[in-house]
Amino acid sequence: MSDDDQSQSCPFCRIVRGEVPAKIAFESDHSVAFHDVNPQAPTHVLVIPRRHVANVAELAAAAPVELADAFSSAAAVAAQQGLERGYRIVANTGPQAHQTVYHAHIHVLGGRSMAWPPG
Ligand code: 5GP
Ligand code: ZN
Repeated sequence: MSDDDQSQSCPFCRIVRGEVPAKIAFESDHSVAFHDVNPQAPTHVLVIPRRHVANVAELAAAAPVELADAFSSAAAVAAQQGLERGYRIVANTGPQAHQTVYHAHIHVLGGRSMAWPPG
């Protein structure tokens, strides 16, 4: 499948294009942040690049400035959501790590105490 075909059918590209509704938390030139539809913490926001790539490693290789923008957007989300006591950033990569959407994204989780090690 070409990149264009993947982007046509990708659920997160659809959110970027405004074709599917999402509760947007923050936007920058390169990133969009929106609340996860199935939250795992009181605050659970996904930060995604506008560009369609499969995971954060591909984003780092293709566009490091956009990767940095995703992390600074995550910090902006954390500040906006009042997570000064701490938050967790997660980037599930590949099937064994339970990645289910193959458009790069980082989870910003906060508002409760986090266990370590993660499950
Ligand atoms: P992954 O398992 O790939 O790391 O995370 C994908 C996340 O995307 C999951 O937490 C899932 O709940 C969320 N998600 C999947 N589809 C949608 C959607 O259409 N809208 C929103 N807001 N979240 C979604
Ligand atoms: Zn996509």
